[in-house]
Amino acid sequence: MSESRFRDPGVRLWHFAREILVRCPRCDGRAAVTIRPADRDAHRYAVGWLTAPHRLTCGGCGHAAEWAPREWRSGLGDAYFTSGGPFVVPRLGGPYDPYFGLPLWLRRRCCGGRTLWAYNVAHLDLLEGYVGARLRERPVPAGSQTLLERLPGWMKAAGNRDELLAAISVLRASA
Ligand SMILES: [Zn+2]
Repeated sequence: MSESRFRDPGVRLWHFAREILVRCPRCDGRAAVTIRPADRDAHRYAVGWLTAPHRLTCGGCGHAAEWAPREWRSGLGDAYFTSGGPFVVPRLGGPYDPYFGLPLWLRRRCCGGRTLWAYNVAHLDLLEGYVGARLRERPVPAGSQTLLERLPGWMKAAGNRDELLAAISVLRASA
C-alpha cells in the first residue's frame, strides 16, 4: 500500500451502521447494536435495514434490549414508507448510536476538546487511512457527499494528524 496516497472509497456513514459498538448501560463495558440476525438479509436497500428491528447485546454482563422502528409522524424526521410503516428513519451522526442513544464505545476526546468517534473497527480503519494520508484523492464517481467529505475541518487539518492518529491507535487497542 502506498504510504501517502489515499482514495476516498465513497462510503457513507450508514455503511458502518450494521454493527455499532456502544457502552453497555448496565456494566459500562463494550456492547453491540446490530440488526436482528433474522432480518440481516431481508432488506435490499440501506433504508430498509436502518429501520429494521435492532438488538443491543453485551457479552460482558448478558444485558440485552430490543429496538423496534417507531411509527412516523409529522415533525419526527425522515419517513420510510414500507409495509406496516411509515417509520422514522434513525438519524445517524455524532458519538451516540442512533437506536438506543447510547454513547459509542469508540469515542475519545482529542484536538482541543473535540470528540473523535467511530461505529466500529472498519470505520476506524477508514478514518485512519484518510487521516494518515498525505495526498487525498476524491471519490470516483462523485455524488452526494461521502463520509470522508463530510468530516469536520479539525479532522482534515494536517496540524491535527499526529494527535488524531494517536487517538485512533488508542481506540483500536480498546476495541
Ligand atoms: Zn454489560
